[in-house]
Amino acid sequence: MIQLYLPLNFLGVLYREIRQGLTDLGRMFDLLERECEVRDAPHARDLTLDRAPDVRFEGVHFGYERERAILHGVDLVIPAGRTVAVVGPSGAGKSTLARLLYRFYDVGRPGDDDAARAAAGRITVEGHDIRDLTQASLRRAIGIVPQDTVLFNDTIEYNIRYGRPDATDEEVCEAARAAHILAFIERLPQGWKTVVGERGLKLSGGEKQRVAIARTLLKNPPILILDEATSALDSANERAIQAELRRLARDRTTLVIAHRLSTVVDAHEIVVLDNGRVVERGRHAELLAQGGRYAHMWALQQSDTQGG
Ligand code: ADP
Ligand code: MG
Repeated sequence: MIQLYLPLNFLGVLYREIRQGLTDLGRMFDLLERECEVRDAPHARDLTLDRAPDVRFEGVHFGYERERAILHGVDLVIPAGRTVAVVGPSGAGKSTLARLLYRFYDVGRPGDDDAARAAAGRITVEGHDIRDLTQASLRRAIGIVPQDTVLFNDTIEYNIRYGRPDATDEEVCEAARAAHILAFIERLPQGWKTVVGERGLKLSGGEKQRVAIARTLLKNPPILILDEATSALDSANERAIQAELRRLARDRTTLVIAHRLSTVVDAHEIVVLDNGRVVERGRHAELLAQGGRYAHMWALQQSDTQGG
């Protein structure tokens, strides 16, 4: 019995993993209407993790276009299971870090020769250069709550279940509850079967973000990227979901990009990025004591909050 059960179960898991990997890739790319620019290397291997991995950006240089460099040698270490926050002005390159980790692009600049590519740094997960990993396995390990969530033109159930297609109804429901979107769904005349997206019910920015959070809760990935994940929410909702995200981030390797600094106070390290360069780094209290960029941003936000 046991002998039979194990390999069958294993095959089932394998099948689901592969299917999910393919769906992920396919849907993600048509979702973003982006050509598949990044390809698996011939020697690419699957990333296998039995715990949250460490993630490193080592001297990363990057530009979307040959003429314009965006990142100028960024170093960043997220120890296994910890949270590192990136803050800084808009256009600094914060979301670009997230896109590189998810490998929408490779480090370097278009048209780099071998020498330039070698000098453009690397990103590693548990010691593996992500260019040596299959994209499907890398992306399976990462959950993103992006700045602007694009929904599929499909039911709200599909949009949440997408995080893990084989989840039970109870698990889908629980994820929606934790992301504070369950009551909203249950109030819709067609409930879970309501079609959302461009050709269906248009959700507000905050509702879309909660769908993305539910999806990620369900996916349950070892690496988490939160890109201004609660920026579209009002402050009461934000506080509730922040608590949920903190719970989600616990024991996962998490990159948090935040403009509201109150959300990064507990981070293992806070990195201030400006113009594609790290200009300050440290823990919240250290950075405040230092009286530099971060302390200045913090003071500004405190006075904003008090002003209303
Ligand atoms: P942040 O998230 O810190 O606000 P981004 O990482 O999104 O900043 O962008 C950094 C810079 O890269 C910006 O100047 C932006 O205009 C540019 N940029 C972002 N995406 C693209 C793209 N797809 N093509 C060209 N330039 C881009
Ligand atoms: Mg951004």
